[in-house]
Amino acid sequence: MTGSGWPADDHVHSQYSWDASAGDMEATCARAVELGLPAISFTEHADFGAWRPPPGGWSWKGTVRGRTDEHGRFMTEPLHVRAYVEAVQRCRHLFPDLRIRCGIELSEGHRFPAEVAELAGWGFERVVGSLHALPDLHLPGEVVEMRGAVAQRGLLGAVRTYLDEAAVMAASDAPFEVLGHLDYPLRYWTPEAGPLPWADLEEQVRHVLTVLAGSGRALEVNTTRPMEMLVVRWWHAAGGQAVSFGSDAHAPEHLGRRWREVADAVSVAGFRPTTDPTAFWSRT
Ligand SMILES: [Zn+2]
Ligand SMILES: [Zn+2]
Repeated sequence: MTGSGWPADDHVHSQYSWDASAGDMEATCARAVELGLPAISFTEHADFGAWRPPPGGWSWKGTVRGRTDEHGRFMTEPLHVRAYVEAVQRCRHLFPDLRIRCGIELSEGHRFPAEVAELAGWGFERVVGSLHALPDLHLPGEVVEMRGAVAQRGLLGAVRTYLDEAAVMAASDAPFEVLGHLDYPLRYWTPEAGPLPWADLEEQVRHVLTVLAGSGRALEVNTTRPMEMLVVRWWHAAGGQAVSFGSDAHAPEHLGRRWREVADAVSVAGFRPTTDPTAFWSRT
């Protein structure tokens, strides 16, 4: 199924991301052309933290690239920027009708100013700002990746801490233009946990969105786990100007996942394409 008027996919990983062992940049571009997407943004991981493992160990699918330090903390393999940028350039020649942006997914960028400054020189065209780790409850100064954070705090506690941290990041001057997957901890939600108490979270979510809108950045609707449209409506009410769509694909077959249903829902929530089909959707 293809469609004109589809949004760009602005959050995509290829084999240049440490956790995308099934990634394939060329096949992803071919898939984008097949789907009729106007543009894609590769946003390879740029992680700088040292994560303490969750109870029971890591549960990543496929092979991941990184190392464990002397304290048992995992550090991801750094992004090989030059090779990555050259691969994007090759794809632009292979797929001249597809707009291909070269970007990064910056993890906790507000906490790593020196590392971020070093990357800034590459002039990435799309920077998604994300959180993947939260402070370790038991070891001050340490962080745990999200599954460990959920194990330590419970899902609701992890969501609340995540939202607090997201507000801090949105208020920072870290160089990102889109807030990625605000609902990331909900990937660990299971039906047994019961419905999430949105009414209790509303004030906190609206606060993050207000700070984000004030910063001039866009909100990402990540389609890995489709964002509750309630949040997109709150984004509109907070004065948010733009919505970005991201499949967060780590393999070509996940590009543009749930595109039609999510785009339709976002349109009902008050955002539409602009005259530039490769751009973010804008508030109406
Ligand atoms: Zn992410
Ligand atoms: Zn991602």
